[in-house]
Amino acid sequence: MQAIDQLYPHLESPKNIVITMHQKPDGDAMGSTLGLYHFLVQFGHKVTVISPTNWASFLNWMPGVNAVVDFERSTDSALNLIYEADFLFCLDFNTLSRTKRMEESLAAATGQRVLIDHHQQPQEEMFAFGVSDTGKSSTAEMVYDFIIGSGHGDKITTDAAECIYAGVMTDTGSFRFPSVTANVHRLVADLKDKGLAHSKVHEAIYDNFSENRLRFMGNTLLNRMEVFYEYNTVLIAIPQADLLKYDIKTGDTEGLVNYPLSIEGIKMAAIIIDRGEERKCSFRSKGGFDVNTFARTYFNGGGHFNAAGGQSREPLETVIADFKKALAENKEQLSTYKF
Ligand code: 5GP
Ligand code: MN
Repeated sequence: MQAIDQLYPHLESPKNIVITMHQKPDGDAMGSTLGLYHFLVQFGHKVTVISPTNWASFLNWMPGVNAVVDFERSTDSALNLIYEADFLFCLDFNTLSRTKRMEESLAAATGQRVLIDHHQQPQEEMFAFGVSDTGKSSTAEMVYDFIIGSGHGDKITTDAAECIYAGVMTDTGSFRFPSVTANVHRLVADLKDKGLAHSKVHEAIYDNFSENRLRFMGNTLLNRMEVFYEYNTVLIAIPQADLLKYDIKTGDTEGLVNYPLSIEGIKMAAIIIDRGEERKCSFRSKGGFDVNTFARTYFNGGGHFNAAGGQSREPLETVIADFKKALAENKEQLSTYKF
């Protein structure tokens, strides 16, 4: 993989460009891809953003989202775009398997793949150009750096600024995680100078849910949460029946895993959601417990040191039992751990 700055000369003439992200994109995946889109289209490139799957409706306010191609819904046109692309930007993921059914075509594409990502253990051999930096708060911050590095920072429009800000904001828990550096605050200051209305982004993302979702959260915290004080850990397990009862859509469960961390002394939070076709797991920690390794070891997943995910094909009850067993195997670290 060549350094990302080696790519700039290749973008001096118009190219066919695809920008893609991980399946079930979150705020950072959608924000970083659309931020880059709003930048690249200004140079006469033909640019299309493709999502491997559908996405949460709380992202639908984002400028440019209506032109995003859903691979599962429009597979034929997405495949044409992928095979015609000169460059395929891969944002907010680093192993092709994170693109679900798109993996095969992405691997077979004749264009050059470009990586911009902040997750651990990148599949570097799959990318011609790229930057992988686990020290970055978000992929959106890296897109911002890519734009500034090109010398065209003046081309950050308010549309691009909103998308980039949304990505950074969502991946940093609204600027509270340790990943927030001085560079992140300088980025925000620069976006403000460029006309960003940041309150609009906060409201669009956090104040746009259904009544049902709030009642679902209430039910979850009351009835689906188990606290293991001996491990400083909380588990939330959600049966599929809850999702149906409260009409829960993609994205409605986003962020729920963070709530237990507000309990004094809790250092790890896990959520297992029975999505029918699979059991989706999310893990969050504070400080020294490495949930990336935990997710990789026990749940077929990965991510970051303090935020990771995984999945299982086993029934919910089995996954819960597996989780408890994994806790016991990590007892020493979890029980003695101090901030
Ligand atoms: P979430 O829990 O919000 O789905 O994901 C937390 C972090 O872990 C995100 O950065 C996400 O990209 C990563 N992640 C989630 N699920 C998986 C997975 O199954 N495999 C890998 N490698 N990473 C995951
Ligand atoms: Mn991210």
